[in-house]
Amino acid sequence: MTISTMSSSVSTSNWRQLLGAMLFLCQFICPVFHSQVLAQPAATAEFESAVLAALGGQALTGIEFTGSGWDACLGQAWSINAGWARWQLTDYHRVIDYDTGTSSQTALRRAGLDADHIGGCGAQPAAAAAPQQSFINSTAAWPDQLLIWLTPHGFLRLLAAGKPAITKAGTGWQASLPLQRDMINYHLIGHFNSQHELTSIQTWIDDSVFGDMEVLAEFGAYEQFNGLSFPHTLTIKQGGFATLSLTIASAAASNATLPNKAPAPPRPPAPATDGPRFTEIGKGIFVVLGGYKSVAVEFDQFTVVIDGLQNDARVQDLITIVKQAIPNKPIRYVVSTHSHFDHASGLRQFAAEGATILTHEMNVAFFNKALSAPRTLRVKPTEPNSVQVKVQGIKDHHEIKDGAGQSIDVYALGPSAHAADMLIAYLPTAKTVVEADTLQPWINPAFGGKNGPHPLLLNLEAGLKKLNLDYQHFVPVHAPPMPPLMERADLEKALAAH
Ligand SMILES: [Zn+2]
Repeated sequence: MTISTMSSSVSTSNWRQLLGAMLFLCQFICPVFHSQVLAQPAATAEFESAVLAALGGQALTGIEFTGSGWDACLGQAWSINAGWARWQLTDYHRVIDYDTGTSSQTALRRAGLDADHIGGCGAQPAAAAAPQQSFINSTAAWPDQLLIWLTPHGFLRLLAAGKPAITKAGTGWQASLPLQRDMINYHLIGHFNSQHELTSIQTWIDDSVFGDMEVLAEFGAYEQFNGLSFPHTLTIKQGGFATLSLTIASAAASNATLPNKAPAPPRPPAPATDGPRFTEIGKGIFVVLGGYKSVAVEFDQFTVVIDGLQNDARVQDLITIVKQAIPNKPIRYVVSTHSHFDHASGLRQFAAEGATILTHEMNVAFFNKALSAPRTLRVKPTEPNSVQVKVQGIKDHHEIKDGAGQSIDVYALGPSAHAADMLIAYLPTAKTVVEADTLQPWINPAFGGKNGPHPLLLNLEAGLKKLNLDYQHFVPVHAPPMPPLMERADLEKALAAH
């Protein structure tokens, strides 16, 4: 018999209160019951009181804390197996207004904490620290609001406002909280130690690569900050790697009323594209135009798509355009140039099309696991909640060819500070190299830095020289918009200028 069944059999509020009190006392004297759900409202209230007492007993309307550490760009790892690219944070200061669900944050932020492994956050080598600030509005989407509520006092407020199920877990407690936001059913699980101190919160949000992506907040040992109990360290992990790691220097109650800034006006709809949405640069070779370009190559029996995987909406559109350019042929392969999520979003949609994902061999285990996970936290799905994933790793070189003279050579470019897993695609019939991020917009058209050519250009040059390819043109996945090609002579001129 479960305790929740017992509670449904009593009818008076007095009995419920008595039972709640017994259950609370029971944690000390009858551990055999502690695997049971404390569905009793009174017991839940007692639990919440104990949690508040562990935090110093002060119900806060707001909090502020300072610290230092680092944050990191989700989906922009140098190596997908080694954690997200990190930025150093000093003078970190966050203010939270729990009453309005708003928060402001300032810090000094230095890009590229790991100089040789900068990853894809847009950092330049040897960047200086710069002031940074952010604001969370009460109307922000739930995933953006999480930083407010993945705090001990914030989570306690969620528990008090919701209907958590409290259970004993090991020597501590677990609070499981269903929560609906933006028409999506979320679930949060708080873990508490035997002193009712919150040690971690686990939840899941939507991500185009991970599907239902785990967000895990971990709290270190609690310290006293002027009568307020707050963890000494705070870590947020997304998709298994930290996106925020702070050592707390101070914490205090805050009565600051943050302005609930008006949300940014919705972006005007993209202008109707009157012009062509793709252009053919060689026989059966189509560049799909847009902010992130993609290349579709027609083979006798099938189609291959190279990059352009900016986000869900873009990929949905991309697949439609590819089928206009190359009708009635299945998309058999999609080349993921590197693991950065602005080049890997929508892989699930290609998997749903039946395409095999070609990626550097170092990413195979990651993509197999991430893309196979369910994806249920969306209002408007772009593909089924679960897809069959086929991933093929490339070590150095992989050729796709048919009997009609079409071929693609996919090569590993070799590690640069941007990524360890970069692939380029060589189209021999068009003497063209398709590349992503090595000719980035910020080094275009100058192509160079103050102290010599940009390291990414040198990496590209070295890789191409080693491969000894007979090429004349590039299709950069990023700029320029039109014409979609850049010339080999442009690269050589930029390299020679130093
Ligand atoms: Zn990148």
